[in-house]
Amino acid sequence: MKLKIVTYPNELLRKKSEPVTEFNDEIKELAQAMLSSLEEFRGVGLSAVQIGRLIRLFVVDTRQPGERGVFINPQIVGTSQDNVPYEEGCLSVPEFFARVMRPSEITVQAFDVSGKPFIINAKGLYARAIQHEADHLEGKLFVDHLEESRRRALLKDYSRACDKKKAHKSKRNR
Ligand code: ZN
Repeated sequence: MKLKIVTYPNELLRKKSEPVTEFNDEIKELAQAMLSSLEEFRGVGLSAVQIGRLIRLFVVDTRQPGERGVFINPQIVGTSQDNVPYEEGCLSVPEFFARVMRPSEITVQAFDVSGKPFIINAKGLYARAIQHEADHLEGKLFVDHLEESRRRALLKDYSRACDKKKAHKSKRNR
């Protein structure tokens, strides 16, 4: 299954995803395909909405032991009191990065592909990626965490870069 990433400003990215109600083979295959694409795209996380499916499912893989998983209908049930910076990016806002503040540790409750509930504590990059992906399920992007002026500047640069890419493509196709 070859997956295509939905990129900003596609409206899908602003929609709220719906809970998964049936843990069937289709969900298993989808999660598996998403995990393999993560390797291919060199990302640490991917939400179903980013491949055009509005369901509450995401995968994370930081390439560290024990930090790989499928999260279905997840809920962040606890966060540490701190707020730490990290340079975040997103496969749906390719090649753009910004410093985002988030708690360094979280507790998340979710279901695995067979519908079995689990609860884990995550910290560092794992916690960061889970929070970033959980935002996607609410239609939220990492740029929404930035100060208004910073966010506007980044999105302006981003749309300029997209226009340039488009122009380049149409020239090539002529
Ligand atoms: Zn993202």
